[in-house]
Amino acid sequence: MGKSLEDIFRRLFDHFGPQKWWPAESQFEVIVGAILTQNTSWKKVERAIYLLKQEDRLSMEEIHKIDEESLGILIKSCGFFRQKAKRLKDFVNHIFIEWGGSLEDFLNQPMEILRSNLLRIKGIGQETADSIILYAAHKPSFVVDRYTHRIMFRHGYTSQRYRYETLRSLFMSELPKDVYLFQEYHALFVRLGKEYCGKIPRCHGCPLQEDVI
Ligand code: SF4
Repeated sequence: MGKSLEDIFRRLFDHFGPQKWWPAESQFEVIVGAILTQNTSWKKVERAIYLLKQEDRLSMEEIHKIDEESLGILIKSCGFFRQKAKRLKDFVNHIFIEWGGSLEDFLNQPMEILRSNLLRIKGIGQETADSIILYAAHKPSFVVDRYTHRIMFRHGYTSQRYRYETLRSLFMSELPKDVYLFQEYHALFVRLGKEYCGKIPRCHGCPLQEDVI
């Protein structure tokens, strides 16, 4: 194991600069993006969000009203579109039934309660829940994804088989609970994974090159 997690962040930030995630115009748009991006690329999600906006469907009320099949057609570009249409509807139905339709009240819950409530909604896994908490609710819950694991594994911080919660706890315990730091850190890991640390690592020129084990 090499540098501290703060050192790693500093090197990534110095190399890539601020990433300013999440690219969305509203809290609800962040949530829709977080659900649609499961197992697919962001490019495909952008297409779906564009269509939802064009059809004036990107709101809680409209997703509540639209039937699953019509919603599926609008988000078809994302793959698993029937399943994702159901997930979007399930999320929105939960907010209408249990929170009187107030997304703001739902997101204003204390972080750990919000997290466990999100994980109770069918189709919301840990990564999606943490993305929603961090980028829509603006609360400091670290997001772990396959890039996080790959980079941390290659630098000796975790084993090849890992538990999401264990890796998340490492960041949660070692870093200050700072929303901006967590938002940038996750975005920087995604950038690093895409540009250098893919399935085959391209260590030459990578900002973490000196630390590879
Ligand atoms: S590309 Fe190499 S140096 Fe960069 S993060 Fe991956 S393993 Fe580390």
